[in-house]
Amino acid sequence: MFETLPQYPDHLALEGEVFAWWEERGIFEQLRGRNRGGPKFSFMDGPITANNPMGAHHCWGRTLKDVFQRYKALRGHDLRYQNGFDCQGLWVEVGVERELGLNSKREIEEYGIAEFAERCKERVAKYAEIITDQCRRLGMWMDWDNDYYTFSDTNIEYIWRFLKECHERGWLYLGHRSVEWCPRCGTSLSQHELINSYAELTHPSLYVRFPLKGREGESLVVWTTTPWTLPANVAAAVNPDAEYGLTEQGEWWAVDLKPDATFTQRVRGAELVGLEYEGPFDRLPAQQGVVHRVIPWEDVALDTGTGIVHIAPGAGAEDFELSRVHDLAVLTPIDESGRFYEDYGEFEGRSTEDVEGPVKIELERRGLLVESGSIVHSYPICWRCSTPLVFRIADDWMISADQIRQPMLDANATVEWTPDFYSKRMDDWLRNMGDWNISRRRYFGLPLPFYPCQSCGTLTVIGSLDELRERATGGLDQLDELHRPWIDEVPIRCDCGDEVRRVTEVGDAWLDAGIVPFSTLGWQNPEWREHGYATGAAAGLTGADLPDHTYWEKWYPADWVSEMREQIRLWFYSQCFMSVTLTGKSPYRAVLTYEKLLDEHGREMHRSWGNAIDAAEALENIGADVIRFMFCEHVPSQNMKFGYGPAGEIRRRLLTYWNSVKFFVDYANVDGFRPGERPPGELQPLDRWLLERTEQLVAETTQQYEQYWSPGVMRAFDSFVDDLSNWYIRRSRRRFYSFDEAAFRTLWFALAQALRVIAPVMPFLADFLWRRLRAEAAPESVFLEPWPEVRELDEELLREVAEVRRVVELGRQARGDAGVKLRQPLRRLVVQGAELAGRHADEIAEELRVKEVEFAPVEAMEVRVKPNLPLLGPKLGKELGAVRSALDAGEFEHVEGGGVRVNGHELGADEVLVERRAREGWALAADDSVTVAVTTGLDDELRREGRVYELIHRVNTMRKDAGLELTDRIRLKLPAADADLLEHADWIKEEVLATEVATDGVSEPEIAKV
Ligand SMILES: [Zn+2]
Ligand SMILES: [Zn+2]
Repeated sequence: MFETLPQYPDHLALEGEVFAWWEERGIFEQLRGRNRGGPKFSFMDGPITANNPMGAHHCWGRTLKDVFQRYKALRGHDLRYQNGFDCQGLWVEVGVERELGLNSKREIEEYGIAEFAERCKERVAKYAEIITDQCRRLGMWMDWDNDYYTFSDTNIEYIWRFLKECHERGWLYLGHRSVEWCPRCGTSLSQHELINSYAELTHPSLYVRFPLKGREGESLVVWTTTPWTLPANVAAAVNPDAEYGLTEQGEWWAVDLKPDATFTQRVRGAELVGLEYEGPFDRLPAQQGVVHRVIPWEDVALDTGTGIVHIAPGAGAEDFELSRVHDLAVLTPIDESGRFYEDYGEFEGRSTEDVEGPVKIELERRGLLVESGSIVHSYPICWRCSTPLVFRIADDWMISADQIRQPMLDANATVEWTPDFYSKRMDDWLRNMGDWNISRRRYFGLPLPFYPCQSCGTLTVIGSLDELRERATGGLDQLDELHRPWIDEVPIRCDCGDEVRRVTEVGDAWLDAGIVPFSTLGWQNPEWREHGYATGAAAGLTGADLPDHTYWEKWYPADWVSEMREQIRLWFYSQCFMSVTLTGKSPYRAVLTYEKLLDEHGREMHRSWGNAIDAAEALENIGADVIRFMFCEHVPSQNMKFGYGPAGEIRRRLLTYWNSVKFFVDYANVDGFRPGERPPGELQPLDRWLLERTEQLVAETTQQYEQYWSPGVMRAFDSFVDDLSNWYIRRSRRRFYSFDEAAFRTLWFALAQALRVIAPVMPFLADFLWRRLRAEAAPESVFLEPWPEVRELDEELLREVAEVRRVVELGRQARGDAGVKLRQPLRRLVVQGAELAGRHADEIAEELRVKEVEFAPVEAMEVRVKPNLPLLGPKLGKELGAVRSALDAGEFEHVEGGGVRVNGHELGADEVLVERRAREGWALAADDSVTVAVTTGLDDELRREGRVYELIHRVNTMRKDAGLELTDRIRLKLPAADADLLEHADWIKEEVLATEVATDGVSEPEIAKV
């Protein structure tokens, strides 16, 4: 006996049950044991940030990772299953700041860096545990006790080694540049952190007058949206080739930008260069001694503003570059927290936003404000805390990208990207990447091992903990982990003999994640250390080993990685940068990437908008299998709309497969059927077809899994289930009622094989059903049954039935369009263009309730041609009437190109309107290659049969409503008006399992159990 199934699957309950059973039976361990020593499949997990519970969007990547790992495991591959957590850097710091209510670096320092580090570690431990539970609930099989943590000393040491290598190659330098700066976080950000991090913000828009010296009554007019930068102004730039004019009010503008003005004088920009002007805030101490002058700049825009640009080198990137070319003073107005320095008079200590009002008032009072308003524009914000960014001059540690760029492009050329156009995106990023800004002025992050000596100028870069110990002059006893503040207490001895301290900066978090192909696989590690990854902050959190170099050689590079598209400029990039530096090779062979998760209405998900769905909520409401189904079905190069509406739709669609299994179980139990291997002899043509169709499913899904293309897997499964349910089962129902062994064996085989190939996508449902369907000798879990073999297919048989199904589909469409119910038999069907279906005329006739099926050219099609009046009216004039009647009468010939010849005129395709429709008495439907036509006329015989079908349907519904068993027999009474139907009494009896059919004095049909 098969365990019976409920009417509908209770996904949440069955997932809980299967989860507990996997645990109890150790299914995952059994699977790993079976595959140990098999061909390896190396997957490298991109670390998930252990800073919050997972959002629904995390489930996308986690699903894809698990699906393809499960598939590879079913194929007998040996996998590592190591999960990774990202544990340090701004994410975690800002999370802890919020938790503690701290809102500036000063407050962190007051709280204490050591205490702060402890809170960061606690937060990581807490969320690593929560994320682990959520991933397990999603069905993800990983080696959960042996995760890697990027804040382990091991990971940090490996980054140190990389940095030392960069230094030895001369790539490391301290850049003095204007950088995008977050005043709240108090640090600069690098190029890859800025993309997509913009908001629509409102800023002031001011037109300001700079009076020219020695030119009474003449001023330059500049436009700015950052009034706070005016106190640091040192120059005004003009486009040397553009034309500038002096208005009657004495204002210099680019002529193009003031089209309505009357100019009293016009000059080329070059002629203004060198003029001096009075700066807007010359009174400030910071401005003392600064000469303000006009400089040339080819990039001055001539489509917005005034064509004259205010230049403040301490508050803008291009401004800073210009200061080098033109030897301008560089005034730096704001400190790390974005507040004005003391030599800015009353602005001292105020934020950039706070000085906007006072600046405007002063300009107005002094008559320098020409016009003021506001502007809404796209402005960069901090990706972590959303504070608008400002430009500051900073000294940041940089890695030059010049020499690595081409080798990285070469390495990327060896990678197989899915979808393939992402390869080009990666190339674009690599071609345009600037130098890597690796320093962050923060606390809980990778300590940069840089020790610059003030006396001899040498920069020492420490490459390992051993090296640090050797060169340390003290502080080692308190160094339990490589983090601030403890690492800062360990000075080293410079080669010149002086004691040198570490710089205070920490590293970009992408160094942490980028090094993992080395740090987790034991690159250049002489001997295997059991649990050797649990070092520093990771002590006690993981049991992960630190393997030796031979292990690295075996598992590097990864066969496959998968992360979202954003990671092109983040993890894919940092990993590639570090790997190409250390080994000259790409760290991965194949990449699957995917886009963004939106809400079900297509809006971005934001916690603050109330439309974000977190993973826990999604799992509790939707269940893991349905979530996984959704992610697998979605084409990864498009943004995905996620929500309860789409999930409900998937749940409904899944019912088709569920109902097929339930149908099988219900009838197999009546019969006492027991499953075995492939069905034995005595198969009918339809059985042979379903077996082939099943083999085709195996072949198609295998091919799609091999290409990491889950939408292809889902499409194959979907169309198989449709064939299985809406063709095989529907066409074979009668055989199940009469316990036809071959039908049971065939259906069992098809259902079981479908389970096996869809198991990676819906592991819970698959094992739930497998445990009910499996043959006694088969393994207890579908994941312990090796992947089905791909066999050669009988393509002709498959094409043949596919054509039959297409004909039936079109036939239904034609009947539907003509408004004829499917229960009403019709006389004749003509099929054109589906030759293979010819052998199945009987099935088609039965499916479409027609008496005859003919394979022949469809002549029931009528082509009507009408004149296109707006074009032909003017062209034909008086002759239009005659042409129209000839067209109506069908007196025309078709000519090549879609036009017609009529009444001696040749009309082009655009001059006529061609309508194809069925002739009177026919209904028609067609696709690219197949046309079907069916007669719609009814006679008495057809009408009577139609009524019999209606009756059968009605009685069977009554049987169900009365709760009769499938095998119960009945007596059927009919109203006298249906006496003519008794002509078909035997047919009716058979269809409704009646022992007797007779008319009686009833007004409606009545049934009674015998
Ligand atoms: Zn910030
Ligand atoms: Zn020195």
